[in-house]
Amino acid sequence: MKIICIGRNYAKHIEELANEKPENPVVFLKPDSAILAKKQPFFIPPFSNDIHYEVEILVKINKVGKYIDEKFAHKYYDEIGLGIDFTARDIQNQCKSKGLPWEKAKGFDGSAVIGKFQNKNELGDLNNLKFSLELNDELVQDGNTNAMLWKIDELIAYVSQFFTLKKGDIIFTGTPAGVGKVKENDLLIGKIKGQEALKVKIK
Ligand code: MG
Repeated sequence: MKIICIGRNYAKHIEELANEKPENPVVFLKPDSAILAKKQPFFIPPFSNDIHYEVEILVKINKVGKYIDEKFAHKYYDEIGLGIDFTARDIQNQCKSKGLPWEKAKGFDGSAVIGKFQNKNELGDLNNLKFSLELNDELVQDGNTNAMLWKIDELIAYVSQFFTLKKGDIIFTGTPAGVGKVKENDLLIGKIKGQEALKVKIK
């Protein structure tokens, strides 16, 4: 399986990192070795002093597809989840300043936290879905998919031009504002519509 991630999909997050608003979705991949094993803590890697959390809505692809039309994109997923795109911001900034790829900053071991998935039909309007992240019981990210620059179906249409989507692939749809640094012993709890959908301890 592959993990396809979208960057800069929420205007307020683009502002907080002083990035430019893209003309098209920003796309990058994480390898399957990035997936943090279920119920395991996240260990801050020795190569970074600035690991950021980014809570994101996830889409699990249910069948193979290429050049998917936006109006049929909804047929390619049944389940929605919540995840964290852990980012070595210091490494990412070095790569960005040199115009180099981001993989070391985004695809390292444990950088993809994949929480619980649920049937999309239980969630109502997917373009008006509230989700959040709490750091040690403090609300740090408070998102709603209605603020996405590109909606889920548009993202599927866009990325499937470049990558054949396969059953089990996961799309990270971008993070809202409020990203920040983690430190040892932090506890992150992510929620969709107020219901816990992921929990990860930092070591
Ligand atoms: Mg992200």
